[in-house]
Amino acid sequence: MVDGRVLLDGGAPLLPHMHRMGLDPGDIAVVFITHFHGDHTLGLPPFVLHRVFVDRRPLTFVGPAGIEDYLEKLWEVSWGPDWKRVMRPQFKVRYLTARPSGSAAGVKYETVKLDHGTMGSNGYRIHMNGKVVAYSGDTEPTAPLDKLVNRADVAIVEATGPGDVFSHMSWENAAKLRKRHPSTRFLFNHVYSGSTTGAVKDMQVIEV
Ligand SMILES: [Zn+2]
Ligand SMILES: [Zn+2]
Repeated sequence: MVDGRVLLDGGAPLLPHMHRMGLDPGDIAVVFITHFHGDHTLGLPPFVLHRVFVDRRPLTFVGPAGIEDYLEKLWEVSWGPDWKRVMRPQFKVRYLTARPSGSAAGVKYETVKLDHGTMGSNGYRIHMNGKVVAYSGDTEPTAPLDKLVNRADVAIVEATGPGDVFSHMSWENAAKLRKRHPSTRFLFNHVYSGSTTGAVKDMQVIEV
């Protein structure tokens, strides 16, 4: 979550985490989806429930081609026939296929196509308050990732684990990436194995 109004993917148990951290789920104006893997999207249904019944401010999703189909199917799987009959008519949503550069809900962004699995991942460069936040979602450590983080103020990049991490980035490659971009502050996430000293704990909010 960036600046209280931009959400980058929605994998974790998003809604309870937001409540526990004192963040208002209704403040989110735009959600950027990198790719359609469950660890990046399956936290969204309870969040959308909140946006249908509790806070009906407009919401925009930006994502790869097929974003509307994928998410509407996800909402329908989550609530069966009640989605279309009861909930969908009350949901103020827009779905936008990410363009190379554009603006969504007043937030300027650029998209960089990254290498990950069969469908790839949309990396985003989000412009906020005169700064650039780069976000990878999942990616292999290939050339487009360098393009994504180049001269960004903050880069949120996955670093899945030590050694061989199929279709993802290893800690070793994460360290090399950081060395190649010394002026960028890196926040590594998506850690699935191993542990490091000084790592941010779950549910910790940090100012950058
Ligand atoms: Zn993935
Ligand atoms: Zn993932």
